[in-house]
Amino acid sequence: MILNGNQVRDQIKAECLPRVNQFIASAGRPPGLAVVLVGDNSASAVYVRNKTKTAEELGIHHETITRDSSLTTEGLLAIIADLNAREDIDGILIQLPLPPHVDSQKALLAVAPEKDVDGFHPCNVGLLSTGRPGLRPCTPSGVIEILKRYDIPIAGRNAVVVGRSDIVGKPMAMLLLQENATVTVSHSRTRDLPAICRNAEILVAAIGRAAMITEEYIRPGAVVIDVGMNTVRTRPDAERIFDAARLADFDKRGSLLVGDVHPGDMAKAASAYTPVPGGVGPLTIAMLMRNTIEAAERRVGV
Ligand code: NDP
Repeated sequence: MILNGNQVRDQIKAECLPRVNQFIASAGRPPGLAVVLVGDNSASAVYVRNKTKTAEELGIHHETITRDSSLTTEGLLAIIADLNAREDIDGILIQLPLPPHVDSQKALLAVAPEKDVDGFHPCNVGLLSTGRPGLRPCTPSGVIEILKRYDIPIAGRNAVVVGRSDIVGKPMAMLLLQENATVTVSHSRTRDLPAICRNAEILVAAIGRAAMITEEYIRPGAVVIDVGMNTVRTRPDAERIFDAARLADFDKRGSLLVGDVHPGDMAKAASAYTPVPGGVGPLTIAMLMRNTIEAAERRVGV
């Protein structure tokens, strides 16, 4: 079974609409999202445009605060302080990566936890790990939504997360634990990763290495969630990874997106899996919108 992230994204967006309208009816204003974009990273600019476009569709007020890469840490902290103080802004998102001279940790710590719609602030991390309500990181919460909406049982199952980043791996493990899975977190120092992964009834790959997870890592019949987004640029890599149809596509375009799991091996061995593209990717923005609405509802008491 292919787990269709676009469909789940559309469901979540459809559920957001009435909540926005209800919020407007009680608060007299729409939920507000501010995105801070620093520097001239073209990929970041595309991500920000996609986020604001979705906010627009849902009737969420949005602002993008753009500054060039000469902005200092102090300058960014002043922008954040201003957004923290504004009544009409419920969610603040600092688009990463920031230029190297800007202290990202300081910036992320400065965002008011109740407006931290990325769920990266240590307060929200603590709320997640102690099972209390709070804002959850978007990508891993999107994974849980996919599993639940496809009625894939989580409780009692062995789940292996490959990757331990603060943004994906660690919160993914905490969310699976909260759903009563038996969770193993693995990383670059894990010994015999294929054997650990073969124990997984639910395998989540969040590594950042094109098609690293091959058949020998996948327990036959496992549910495989591929969070990875990597660009394949060389023909030898493309030959290792893609079937004839996608190889032709690669030749036409010169590069192609692939996850952390080998697509052919995943389709062969898994009982259900998220494809790349069209799996986990579409969920991240939808969950950001839901977090913004949730932050607004909590702040205003709706
Ligand atoms: P990071 O680089 O922050 O973390 C990668 C993790 O993978 C690290 O914990 C690292 O281990 C582990 N790792 C690296 N190499 C190996 C290896 N050979 N064997 C086992 N573990 C390994 O990446 P992110 O967590 O930010 O992102 C992971 C992937 O998810 C990327 O492809 C990214 O593009 C994608 N992504 C997708 C999103 C979406 O919306 N779909 C959103 C965010 C990310 P160690 O800690 O030991 O170094």
